[in-house]
Amino acid sequence: MALNAQTTKSISLQDLGIAHHNIHYQLSSDQLHDMTIAKDMGVESSLGALAVNTGEFTGRSPLDRFIVKDDITADKVWWGNINIPFAADDFDALHKKVIAYLNKKELFVRDAYACAEKEYRLNIRVINEYPWSNMFAYNMFLRPTEEELEGFAPEWTVINAPGFMADPKVDKTRQHNFAILNFSRKIALIGGTGYTGEIKKGIFSALNFILPVFKNTLPMHCSANVGKGGDTAIFFGLSGTGKTTLSTDPNRKLIGDDEHGWTSKNTVFNFEGGCYAKVINLSKENEPEIYGAIKKGAILENVILDDSGEVDFTDTSITQNTRVSYPIYHIKNIQEPSIGENVKNVFFLTADAFGVLPPISKLTPSQAAYHFISGYTAKVAGTEAGVVEPQPSFSACFGAPFMPLHPAKYAEMLSKKMIESGVDVWLVNTGWTGGPYGVGTRMKLKYTRAMISAVLNGDLGLYSYDAYHIHSVFGVAQPRSCPGVPTKVLSPRATWNDDEAYYKTAFKLSNAFRENFKKFEADANEEIRRGGPQRYAF
Ligand code: ATP
Ligand code: MN
Repeated sequence: MALNAQTTKSISLQDLGIAHHNIHYQLSSDQLHDMTIAKDMGVESSLGALAVNTGEFTGRSPLDRFIVKDDITADKVWWGNINIPFAADDFDALHKKVIAYLNKKELFVRDAYACAEKEYRLNIRVINEYPWSNMFAYNMFLRPTEEELEGFAPEWTVINAPGFMADPKVDKTRQHNFAILNFSRKIALIGGTGYTGEIKKGIFSALNFILPVFKNTLPMHCSANVGKGGDTAIFFGLSGTGKTTLSTDPNRKLIGDDEHGWTSKNTVFNFEGGCYAKVINLSKENEPEIYGAIKKGAILENVILDDSGEVDFTDTSITQNTRVSYPIYHIKNIQEPSIGENVKNVFFLTADAFGVLPPISKLTPSQAAYHFISGYTAKVAGTEAGVVEPQPSFSACFGAPFMPLHPAKYAEMLSKKMIESGVDVWLVNTGWTGGPYGVGTRMKLKYTRAMISAVLNGDLGLYSYDAYHIHSVFGVAQPRSCPGVPTKVLSPRATWNDDEAYYKTAFKLSNAFRENFKKFEADANEEIRRGGPQRYAF
């Protein structure tokens, strides 16, 4: 296959101010795998996948993500503690320093693109200090053919220098690491962190500005797959709620696991060319497709291996956020190209650690808009300190850290699309049942899958008054039965065996919703406000 040919190509980076010739351009995945091991930066696991440690950072650093305030962004970006402004002059100075640093390094350069729909294609040149970061770019971005590489004109450049440490006083960063987007210069400048997720989420954030502002397309932090009848399902959710897990379904073709656009032609396209799955407690039995994707070509991050290279997926001694990246073709059942049509169902995934939201419920259009703006999930407290209260966590559009515009902008677009295409919207609690975190248990993956399959097969779709119970606190429609799921599981109250404790906790959550929604009240119309919980504690 041409993409994996062991070619030696050359490229000049003179235009960026990089003068040396120690540049590896467009190396194959195998070459990068081997070089990483040869440089002692990684090992081969018994599954064949490369295993690396990303260093000091094993997750993104949202407080160190900046956007350059310039003519393009100044009056469009929703500035604040999510989109932190950075001065153009400071960017130029820091950029210069990073380039001077990279001028002394062996470099790994890759041309790739984002967006599976042709007319939205964004050409990207990725410049990495480390071979495994460049292999990550191979896995995660879309891969141009040999033909497309002829005369490839990069539009955006990702500069990734994990070993470069900023000096906050001089460089105007918060600390030594940074990820800065510059829309005028079309550069994502990343330094001081080796966490690969910064690379993909940098381009995602750029697209989340470009697509709605210039291309009338809604960008979404969601996964997507398509059924045999050509119906597309999309799954929104914050980190850890199940986007990757639930979209990887042997009975449906995977479109993508994290970043998509919904066009004015009503198609849904993947931005990426690969998946980035959490592997904490991964098992072959529960998640055979993802497990099977962990082979040569995949990169495991921050996992613990024994002497024979076997991975212990239960070991979280480096981080809970252990990951694997792989090109999408490591999954057997995929949609090619990664584009879906005919969106029929939208799922909002939430990991409710209070254990009070129904495992599945149907939302009215008002409720859908309200829940999208709210973007609820919960954080569970550190496990070592014993049982501590879960914390509600609200992130607008189920992805606020990546959304440069005001949430209302995306919500407006989504509402319009949902109404136009007549989709059904479902709230799925992949979190706790039988009590809150510490008392109850995580919802069985088997049950969540059965509920989603029931929706997609039309077994829950028919609305009749008797088939649903309207939740007295949240107002959502909770199905009374579902194939493959014990009836009791469908009612969170029933699983608690303690009505008083259940309602107390449900009110605690409904109050948290109300508190969070205050900041959107001014921008929300009556229709959206009506979608909130029906009852609160006073
Ligand atoms: P990110 O945005 O960080 O990529 P994600 O939404 O893709 O996050 P997943 O990678 O799918 O999240 O993580 C969900 C995790 O929760 C997996 O480790 C999965 O095994 C686990 N899990 C446990 N129970 C369930 C359930 N009922 N439904 C979904 N996932 C579950
Ligand atoms: Mn994911």
